Amino acid sequence: MKIVCSCGAPENLLKPYFTKGETDFRLCKICGCVFRERFPNPSELDEIYRQAYAEENISGSNTNQESGDYAAQSYAQHLMGKVIKSGDRYLDFGAGTGALLAELKKLGLGGDGVEYSASARDYCLTNRAIALKADLSDVPADFYQVISMIEVIEHLTDLNGTLKEIFRVLAPGGRLFITTPSRTGFRSRIEKGYWREAQKKFHLFLFDMNSLAFHLKRTGFVDVRRNVFSPLQKSGWKHTVYSRSIQSIGLSGTLCVVAQK
Ligand SMILES: [Zn+2]
Repeated sequence: MKIVCSCGAPENLLKPYFTKGETDFRLCKICGCVFRERFPNPSELDEIYRQAYAEENISGSNTNQESGDYAAQSYAQHLMGKVIKSGDRYLDFGAGTGALLAELKKLGLGGDGVEYSASARDYCLTNRAIALKADLSDVPADFYQVISMIEVIEHLTDLNGTLKEIFRVLAPGGRLFITTPSRTGFRSRIEKGYWREAQKKFHLFLFDMNSLAFHLKRTGFVDVRRNVFSPLQKSGWKHTVYSRSIQSIGLSGTLCVVAQK
């Protein structure tokens, strides 16, 4: 089967990215995108997610849960302080089990969420009393002023189609807030094909700023800017100083971008 980049570049413009570890990633010479040469089909993806969640539960969900909630709080505060204005209609695309929406609700913001996974939607409804949408099909054009996609874009099996759909429902002048693992961060530079984010089989794309901006602009977004923020996974001043230093020199493991329609 021929490999084609989401930008349309054919196979002869793609080259292997890692030489060890995850060797199925390709780098596109046109858009700078790094992606897996073959995406898992839906049933393979189900199995990958099922195994990943099972491992997470086995490895002590207490610490994971705490750090997850801490990150959600950190995102909620950042969004409310810097991205969402009062009166904005807000959507979290790829809402998972709704942790961020729940944190935002505590801060007085009632937003919507989209989540493909039926079990995550069920969890969110049962435990947080928030009903998530399965997709954007019933949302009118130009509806939301702010949409967030937090650690979601690297999972997309249809990058172009999903970005188009998000662009459609975003109001003119509205903002899209994206975070994704940065392949130019400190860890990825050191660990290369053994980088934790590359080893997650559901990560289909590894972006840097240029390739992410390329695809956003191709969809029609303008004013694509790096947002100087990445969430703190843990509390404590030592961790804060470390994280913010890494971020300020551009070696953060998280790429955070805001784009406008
Ligand atoms: Zn490309």
